Amino acid sequence: MPIYEFRCTGAHRFEVSVPMSMRDGAQDCPDCGASAGRLIAAPALGRLGSLTARLLDSTQASAHSPGVVDAVPGGGAAPRRGTPVTRDPRHARLPRP
Ligand SMILES: [Zn+2]
Repeated sequence: MPIYEFRCTGAHRFEVSVPMSMRDGAQDCPDCGASAGRLIAAPALGRLGSLTARLLDSTQASAHSPGVVDAVPGGGAAPRRGTPVTRDPRHARLPRP
């Protein structure tokens, strides 16, 4: 969810993460409880795609719904020795170690 900046009638500024459909609704100020309207602010485009932004997004996502691992990453055990990796008949005639 995007983060929007609000300012109440008591001039307190705060940021709230709300769905875009609720961005124009009034928010209650966390400091004084007064109704606050949304401010129009410049987007923080310089943060998009950066390593810091991805780390923050990943941390925030894992705080709410941590990923559950039920298998070993990478598919498990290494392939068995001697398992054919090609079906080309010419490869069968190659010298063996
Ligand atoms: Zn306030």
